[in-house]
Amino acid sequence: ATAARQSLKIGLVPADGIGKEVIPAARRAIEALGSDIPKPEFHDLVAGFEHFTRSGTALPEETVRALREDCDAALFGAVSSPSRKVTGYTSPIVALRKELDLYANIRPVVSVSADPRGKPSIDMVVVRENTECLYVKQETMIHTETGREARATRLITERASRRIGKMAFEIALKRPRKLVTIIHKSNVLSVTDGLFRETVRGVPKLPEVAGRYDNVTIAEQIVDSAVYRLFREPEIYDVMVAPNLYGDILSDAAAALVGSLGLVPSINAGDHFVMGEPVHGSAPDIEGKGIANPIAAIRSAALMLRHLGYEKGADRVDNAVNSVLREGQFATPDLGGKSTTAEVLDAILKRI
Ligand code: ATP
Ligand code: MG
Repeated sequence: ATAARQSLKIGLVPADGIGKEVIPAARRAIEALGSDIPKPEFHDLVAGFEHFTRSGTALPEETVRALREDCDAALFGAVSSPSRKVTGYTSPIVALRKELDLYANIRPVVSVSADPRGKPSIDMVVVRENTECLYVKQETMIHTETGREARATRLITERASRRIGKMAFEIALKRPRKLVTIIHKSNVLSVTDGLFRETVRGVPKLPEVAGRYDNVTIAEQIVDSAVYRLFREPEIYDVMVAPNLYGDILSDAAAALVGSLGLVPSINAGDHFVMGEPVHGSAPDIEGKGIANPIAAIRSAALMLRHLGYEKGADRVDNAVNSVLREGQFATPDLGGKSTTAEVLDAILKRI
């Protein structure tokens, strides 16, 4: 499908805070690729908490419509989370994931090797199911004789487990090690986690994928021991696939292994759409100072391109970022440097 595209229509939703500084940087990186990708066509779209305070809506209908009808993919910046609950406000990123059925949150975590030809010691991808588990937010509170009692529903379906499993196997296929590790706690939660584990394990045996994943190795790990091993021997992991809650925790923990939040990209992917999103938030403490690290957003653009099948363009962006990181001459303050967003971006653009 990708080969036929005349142009690549990309929605840009910078949203709040440093999103407005790093998304334009990611756009420049995409533009620098020239003929390695179809001619990019950008659509500037609004959403976010700041937009909510001005207009009463965090995610305008028009933005959703434009993404759905006019765009092949999107880049999202960041939303600020209000410190108190604000009536009528729901996070636009959560709503967008739902509207566009972006059921997978995919987060590669890679360390940069000092030797340009050396292998990174950490090179893994966390594939997190993004629509169910405890995050269906069905919580209740009842009052009993001994005090309050809070309950939450945890939903695991075969359908959602199967499609996230397929996504994980597809990603593993394109990687040298081709190893999928299923994260669960089915020794305790045998019904819910049991279903997740069993369903993901069953993916290679589905008739419609017949033989496709024969070269992929499946491993599994109980979530607590997975965290332990993640910190002690992160090099053992290739693709980790997990239900929503474990995936949420694991992907932040894995990000911590490689340093600044300003480096870690992600995509939200479904069967029909992909949206790149840096893992960091709106960083109000550094907003407007011109020192936000643009690398997480630029890497998110690369990841988005890779997901669309433009491996060559994605490689060029990633290689440029990695050489800037290795050389160490241009680094924003979060990495201990003194460079501005613009200086780091320029260094990356030159290498692209
Ligand atoms: P939010 O409510 O939007 O999540 P936050 O205060 O939690 O905002 P984060 O964006 O999550 O802020 O960032 C946490 C810390 O990491 C902040 O000190 C922030 O300045 C820093 N940080 C995050 N992203 C970047 C970046 N791209 N460049 C530099 N520093 C960053
Ligand atoms: Mg935050």
